[in-house]
Amino acid sequence: MIKLNNITKVFPSKNGVVKALNDVNLHVKKGEIHGVIGYSGAGKSTLIRCVNLLEKPTSGTVSINGVEMTSMSQEKLRKTRQKIGMIFQHFNLLKTATVYDNIAIPLKLLGYDKKEVETRVDKYLGIVDLLEKKHTYPSQLSGGQKQRVAIARALSQEPQILLSDEATSALDPETTNSILDLLLKINEELGITILLITHEMNVIQKICDYVYVIENGDLIEQGTAINLFTNP
Ligand code: ADP
Ligand code: ADP
Repeated sequence: MIKLNNITKVFPSKNGVVKALNDVNLHVKKGEIHGVIGYSGAGKSTLIRCVNLLEKPTSGTVSINGVEMTSMSQEKLRKTRQKIGMIFQHFNLLKTATVYDNIAIPLKLLGYDKKEVETRVDKYLGIVDLLEKKHTYPSQLSGGQKQRVAIARALSQEPQILLSDEATSALDPETTNSILDLLLKINEELGITILLITHEMNVIQKICDYVYVIENGDLIEQGTAINLFTNP
């Protein structure tokens, strides 16, 4: 479903260049939850941003459902990106818009009619169990509730893939657990494939089918969570 082939990403820097990713290969199978774990600066954000080409790899290819994205026209890329939702550490909600509008505005921009927009907002706010907050503003919500709105917004475009960029890093342990339970539910009930990045081992252990360890731009280890973290 998601394939990164020999991805290298080099950024210019003050003293030359930084190699953020070094020949990375990764294969996320349909319906699974894969996680990339590593310390700050290891290359996690760069890696996940390469999946939807928010970051353009210096070399290597990205394929989604067997279709190579790296050489797509802008128009096709726009369409393929709609199959890929994303959530973030700091939620990225519009502060001046209600919960309803945070989800509705992107749908309207994509051209869905009013009826379809309303149906989807209600459906996905229901799935994240937040219908009663429809008319409130993000400032009136807890961190966990904000992340639920962001998840509903991502789901409302009915993606096949959800990318999670440190989605629980700003949350306390209890709230983290409830968001991870929600991601598991989304994976199981909606069949959405998930790729996440995190620096938290408990995230990996709780929900990931398969794990990659990244260090200085290299994937240094990979395997099932059980095999990777229970062997001495
Ligand atoms: P992580 O998400 O694991 O903290 P990043 O992918 O953000 O790691 O960063 C990996 C490396 O690439 C770091 O050395 C970082 O400083 C560098 N880097 C990331 N983005 C840029 C950029 N836009 N310009 C220059 N260097 C960058
Ligand atoms: P626009 O004219 O900008 O398309 P609408 O007529 O769809 O806006 O709605 C006006 C405002 O009413 C929206 O910005 C939204 O806050 C609110 N609204 C519309 N429909 C609903 C709904 N089904 N549930 C909650 N709020 C809604």
